[in-house]
Amino acid sequence: MSGEGRDPQAIRRLAPGRLVIASHNEGKVREIRDLLAPYGMDVVSAKELDLPEPEETGTTFVANAELKAMQAADLSGLPALADDSGLCVEGLGGDPGIFSARWAGEAKDFDLAMRLVHEHLAAKGPDTPRDAHFIAALALAWPDGHVEWFEGRVDGTLVWPPRGANGFGYDAMFLPVDGEQTFGEMEPQAKHAISHRADAFRQLVAAVF
Ligand code: IMP
Repeated sequence: MSGEGRDPQAIRRLAPGRLVIASHNEGKVREIRDLLAPYGMDVVSAKELDLPEPEETGTTFVANAELKAMQAADLSGLPALADDSGLCVEGLGGDPGIFSARWAGEAKDFDLAMRLVHEHLAAKGPDTPRDAHFIAALALAWPDGHVEWFEGRVDGTLVWPPRGANGFGYDAMFLPVDGEQTFGEMEPQAKHAISHRADAFRQLVAAVF
């Protein structure tokens, strides 16, 4: 976890009030709204405020989360929270990484994206390690330019063919360490207990509330 080692006393606290979720993805906004409900946050999405979606020009998950959060905070005058996530495959040098959504193409076809990952690995030979991890970066920005970030991670291996229809994205080919079910086979609550996103949220909640 890359947030480790920072002085928790130095992290800025988030006061109850309005918070922008810097995402146009309704699924993400719903998930984040639920997670923040116990903390007295009045959540509004970037889409509801008609804010533009910035181009994700960063070279890391944290950089992309930060640029989305900072733009939303700047334009709205409110604190803003953004996330950026993806699958990193060790045998592919960390790909698809920050390009995880792009590997699914315009049609957002994750059967295609999973097949591409599988084919790239197969092209490297049968001994190529199948280790992989998901990363989720959360960035919380204030209108004065201050920003805090948290990075969560979950490790596993990739299976082929994909298994299970419960998740989204690359879930059906991701088997978490010590697990018997892929994220696609798990009940959502079981995935949420160990996921990269849950890890990042635990850090955020512990630090800013
Ligand atoms: P983002 O919206 O730019 O953060 O794109 C994240 C992409 O990473 C998603 O479209 C998925 O392809 C992938 N991804 C992130 N988190 C997960 C997950 O929990 N399960 C499966 N795929 C994920």
